Amino acid sequence: MYSSLKQTLDSQAVTLVAVSKTKPHSALMELYDKGQRVFGENRVQELVEKQEALPKDIEWHMIGALQKNKVKYLAPFVTMIQSLDSLALARIINKEAAKNERTIPVLLQIKIGTEDSKSGYSIDLLKTELPEIMTLGNINICGVMGIGTFTHDEEVTLMEFRTLKSYFSELKESAFTESENFKEISMGMSGDYQLAIEEGSTMVRIGSLLFGSR
Ligand SMILES: *Cc1c(COP(=O)(O)O)cnc(C)c1O
Repeated sequence: MYSSLKQTLDSQAVTLVAVSKTKPHSALMELYDKGQRVFGENRVQELVEKQEALPKDIEWHMIGALQKNKVKYLAPFVTMIQSLDSLALARIINKEAAKNERTIPVLLQIKIGTEDSKSGYSIDLLKTELPEIMTLGNINICGVMGIGTFTHDEEVTLMEFRTLKSYFSELKESAFTESENFKEISMGMSGDYQLAIEEGSTMVRIGSLLFGSR
């Protein structure tokens, strides 16, 4: 499964984030040995524990809701925080990045689904807060991320992906015309990654298809 999927995604220039939450080290190492380097986790403690134990050339993406008091544990090494959803969180990430004398790449998580009410910016609040986020020198805004509604209704998923793509384009034109870094649209999971790519995804987050159900 892994090799054919990776090949397909590579040929479309789509980044594969292997979502390894709840899976043991051995499962990650199996993919690592086949060449996978980008892994995603949604809990800080588990991410840090795996980062300490596993090879240092793994690129770790934080994809879950992030509490402000836990940013400091990720700041020294995290490759990308995909779940930036408030100015307060952005300020903390910026501060912890500066302490570590680095810049942390982030994605703006935007609410597109109907059920995941806890996380993700509403587009209106994002537009309000973005100017200040953009002044923070130690974060690098690389694009947007969205989590679709868990549904078998492909029409719903399609509309959500189109919504995220249109937000991306709108932000690109209004705020990031000068930025080469603002280019990622992280959307698509095991059940809908093909549709996501058709709709413009540049980064898919795939767990159960690679590792089995959780
Ligand atoms: C768990 C998770 C995924 C992967 O889901 P699968 O359906 O197992 O591929 C993707 N994105 C986020 C934010 C997740 O929490």
